[in-house]
Amino acid sequence: TSPAIKPPLTIRLCGPRGFCAGVDRAIQIVVLALKAYGAPVYVRHEIVHNRYVVEGLEAKGAVFVEELDEIPAEHRAQPVVFSAHGVPKSVPEDAVARNLFYLDATCPLVSKVHKQAMRHQRLGRHVILIGHAGHPEVIGTMGQLPEGSVSLVETVEDASIWEPPVDPAHLGYVTQTTLSVDDTAGVIARLQERFPALTAPAADSICYATTNRQEAVKQAAPGCDLFITVGAPNSSNSKRLVEVALKAGATHSILVQRASELNWDEIETLGPIRTLGLSAGASAPEVIVDEIISAFKERFEATVDLAITAEENEHFLVNRELRGLDLTVA
Ligand code: SF4
Repeated sequence: TSPAIKPPLTIRLCGPRGFCAGVDRAIQIVVLALKAYGAPVYVRHEIVHNRYVVEGLEAKGAVFVEELDEIPAEHRAQPVVFSAHGVPKSVPEDAVARNLFYLDATCPLVSKVHKQAMRHQRLGRHVILIGHAGHPEVIGTMGQLPEGSVSLVETVEDASIWEPPVDPAHLGYVTQTTLSVDDTAGVIARLQERFPALTAPAADSICYATTNRQEAVKQAAPGCDLFITVGAPNSSNSKRLVEVALKAGATHSILVQRASELNWDEIETLGPIRTLGLSAGASAPEVIVDEIISAFKERFEATVDLAITAEENEHFLVNRELRGLDLTVA
């Protein structure tokens, strides 16, 4: 019997995709802490929202906890790392009170948003935070300021009905770093319409990585029969890429964590797939992108077309305590 003929497939592989400088730095901090201080190294919350990354670090000796009180008394001398999403001010304060040694892996671009929020408040403005309720970054940013001085606005509908608790002449906004660029512009426009004196942060809160990944998806998605974003269901920036692909014209758009999750029966029901778009959220490792490409190559005569819209050269230094350690032998 002759081998089955595989249908042709073009994979439009977006660039930039996957790890950003903040995620790369946060993972390095855990790896270097393990090297410098030995296991266990505690990590408060998933260091980045990706199970593959978390399990890889667990195998090296990292222990993930949600709160500091989960760290056993006999391990208090071991470091605890705060995740890339940032933490409310109460967390480092709590760590000091518990005599814990902490390393903060908050992305510098999240810290920048914290500073902008604090600046608004210092200048007498009530802060509007545009973001998703319950996301750790939102909890962290709100927790930079005293209770009652930040209001969360999620959608254009929220922006239409929100009532300021102060004189509307004194309002400033910041946003979560991983929002949809276009949706956020709509929320800001609505707020500005209602509160013309609303002050913007000194620099955009949505980060370069979010912006670049969305732009690449927007360019690649039109004409794709299926668009796959590699990422976790709790990863904000990954979920936004799924939405952006659909809005930009992909017929179907899904989020996938691992190749093993691909449901081929379901994919078959979508109709013939001739063009597949592929990207990855900022916390998704490239090895999973490779896995997905291989899985498609087993079933299709696939060619990969790079769809690159920007070059990224960002790199963030790790904490001072860890600099100079050689990561390659960790
Ligand atoms: Fe930092 Fe942006 Fe990456 Fe978040 S997505 S860790 S803000 S660079």
